[in-house]
Amino acid sequence: NSSLHELDPDVAAAVDAELHRQQSTLEMIASENFAPVAVMEAQGSVLTNKYAEGYPGRRYYGGCEHVDVVEQIAIDRIKALFGAEAANVQPHSGAQANAAAMFALIKPGDTILGLNLAHGGHLTHGMKINFSGKLYNVVPYHVDEKTNLVDMEEVERLAKEHRPKLIVAGWSAYPRQLDFAAFRRIADEVGAYLMVDMAHFAGLVAAGLHPNPVPHAHVVTTTTHKTLGGPRGGVILSTQELAKKINSAVFPGQQGGPLEHVIAAKAVSFKVAASEDFKERQQRTLEGAKILAERLVQDDVAQHGVSVLSGGTDVHLVLVDLRDSELDGQQAEDRLHEVGITVNRNAIPNDPRPPMVTSGLRIGTPALATRGFTAEDFREVADIIAEALKPAYDAEALKARVTALADKYPLYPSL
Ligand code: PLP
Repeated sequence: NSSLHELDPDVAAAVDAELHRQQSTLEMIASENFAPVAVMEAQGSVLTNKYAEGYPGRRYYGGCEHVDVVEQIAIDRIKALFGAEAANVQPHSGAQANAAAMFALIKPGDTILGLNLAHGGHLTHGMKINFSGKLYNVVPYHVDEKTNLVDMEEVERLAKEHRPKLIVAGWSAYPRQLDFAAFRRIADEVGAYLMVDMAHFAGLVAAGLHPNPVPHAHVVTTTTHKTLGGPRGGVILSTQELAKKINSAVFPGQQGGPLEHVIAAKAVSFKVAASEDFKERQQRTLEGAKILAERLVQDDVAQHGVSVLSGGTDVHLVLVDLRDSELDGQQAEDRLHEVGITVNRNAIPNDPRPPMVTSGLRIGTPALATRGFTAEDFREVADIIAEALKPAYDAEALKARVTALADKYPLYPSL
């Protein structure tokens, strides 16, 4: 029963170094966040030892009386949070939630409509070498070339032409809100299921700051670790009518034993997500993204070929368009890394550069909002980023400004 440091100093050193990295830099990867200590405590608990195949009250293993309590709390909390009739909290990740939902609703060879990866969709929405692209006949839809908004006329046209069994609405890199009612109308017209993948914006929905897809979709999937701010994992929400199919698609369809320690951590994070503090944090998340977008469209930056896709944002991220910049996505990512800001380069629609280089950046505000950043702090962050993307930049001076912000908001001081 040695501690991690005693038993395995090599792994412990890497964990310590990662803690220091998170504390001393500014985390702006749009899909990342900082889980509360209580969430990590639940995830690091003895529940990791327990097998519990099945569902609360109907397990294939003995001794499940306590994990049953935990899993039922998680189910009840997330149903209440989003107003869903049924919830499955067992998917190990967002990708597995999507795989299980598709497994429940459609058969291999069926046609699905999903947002093209290069236009902001996720791998599991039909990318060629993902399970979704291999098992199903994928018809991708796109964003409009001029507005960079999802082209609903194209969605409708493709739906009528290809009669999909499933339409997937959701995104990994898109700065605006989708029209769930329009998606549902189109799905109904062609007899398709509508699945909304709200992995990115679930936290905004929970806070009431983004339309809720639950009333419109047959099935809603999400991750629990992005804006929602919990442990890494997935969830599937559905109507009561589809609940049995979904449950059997997750187990035994896709997975074996559930990760009850992660489910406990999910339950804790759902409690947090129902709080007023969480709502206030999501408001700062949105405000921070707007401040960033406004800064990056100003003339001093725009004159160097930097712009913002769709001209702004309604969510927790900004997509920076570098097609007219001398900097490519990789170089811009490296520059921000050099000054202590972590982001990811991102392909943008009709990107002329290859996927490993790209002409875009995806910059998100959830993690910094969790850290406590206010509008004033986000103005400083936005200015640092704007300066770093100019041809002449002072890396040392910008890094000092980053360090001052990081020091202002100590992260995990008790660890
Ligand atoms: N769905 C969307 C929209 C995502 O952006 C992601 C992750 O980036 C996923 C699903 C997959 O989640 P995970 O990485 O937990 O498998």
